[in-house]
Amino acid sequence: MIKPPHLTVSPLPRTLNGIMEATAGKKILIVEDEQDIAQLVQHYLQKDGFRSVTAINGVEALKKVKAEQPDLIVLDLMLPEMDGLEVCKRVRSEPETAMLPIIMLTAKAEESDTIVGLELGADDYVTKPFSPKALVARVKALLRRIDRTPSTGAEHYRYGALTMNSTRHEVSLNQEEVPLTAKEFGLLEHLLRHRGRVLTREVLLNAVWGYDYYGTTRTVDVHIRRLKQKLPPLEDAIVSVKSLGYKLKDSD
Ligand code: CA
Repeated sequence: MIKPPHLTVSPLPRTLNGIMEATAGKKILIVEDEQDIAQLVQHYLQKDGFRSVTAINGVEALKKVKAEQPDLIVLDLMLPEMDGLEVCKRVRSEPETAMLPIIMLTAKAEESDTIVGLELGADDYVTKPFSPKALVARVKALLRRIDRTPSTGAEHYRYGALTMNSTRHEVSLNQEEVPLTAKEFGLLEHLLRHRGRVLTREVLLNAVWGYDYYGTTRTVDVHIRRLKQKLPPLEDAIVSVKSLGYKLKDSD
């Protein structure tokens, strides 16, 4: 019997090792006022199986973040109406979007003054002029890094000489147990789980103290200071991000 042609199953898109890319189908918001750059980036992302939407200024970008719920933002720094840094800050300050991955696009000339801020506020940055292929590779790398991040359940963490066992509620430094309060423990766990990412004081407050906590964000600063006193390697590892919050440096 001859199979009717419409029953032919076309193969699913697969990578060489036969496993679907975890990043395929993810939605990327491209915020860029230069249309030719936006189109080029969009073309390369779509060729790699990404979905994409665009915004041409900072105000539109914030609207699209809400309406389109992208998985990642490629954000140009120099934008009309509201610049990329401000967009980044606003995205980070909303609990629903605080963890949204951001790759910032920056021109070479702006590098010296703003690179530190960019590196801290955004998850990654790419300097213009850039190769679209390299940008797509950075998008994939960032999405994979975030995919890998465990979100629930008991975990073991290792960070240099520091280890955490969430199940047993134990933290050790060079195999010596260091007693932490419940809040210090929760704060450290959140930082370890999201290492390499900027966490605002509001996000940390909500994650560790809960939404019904009426204390101020100063509470977070006090507990970060105590963590650093109890665990000296954190003194340099936890960096304060100007007007945003804190970040535990990625040790990888
Ligand atoms: Ca621009």
